[in-house]
Amino acid sequence: MGKLFSISNYNEIKEFFHKKGLKCTPQRQAVLKVLQESKSYLSINKIHKNVKELLPETGLATVYRSLETLVELNLVVKVHLEDGCHSYAIAPEGHRHPIVCTDCNSVIEYTECPMEDLSKQISEQTGVQINTHFLQLFGKCKECQA
Ligand SMILES: [Zn+2]
Ligand SMILES: [Zn+2]
Repeated sequence: MGKLFSISNYNEIKEFFHKKGLKCTPQRQAVLKVLQESKSYLSINKIHKNVKELLPETGLATVYRSLETLVELNLVVKVHLEDGCHSYAIAPEGHRHPIVCTDCNSVIEYTECPMEDLSKQISEQTGVQINTHFLQLFGKCKECQA
């Protein structure tokens, strides 16, 4: 997993929030910490459970709001699941594509972008200027194939 911040470096996180005019609340920090310590994506209920171990008073709605903020800040990504639900993972640094293992739920990053030529082609065909994209793949990781 790419890490934007090391868990110990809260000054950097605070600085980042401060620049965006936001407070780095203990809840937001706890959500980030929980996701950073996880090797796989987590459902909101699991995140809530783990955050409560750090901050017992935290409600589910607070965790949800914190996650939405962290997604907006590109610190966290929403991982879309095959059943239409979604979970959350720490955002990889830079432009990368997550590959989700459907057996063990781990998130592997694919660093190449196969979409650039395709975006151009889609632009030509539809007349739409493509600015960005979200590409996520599902599969079976090496460990799960063994
Ligand atoms: Zn796996
Ligand atoms: Zn891409």
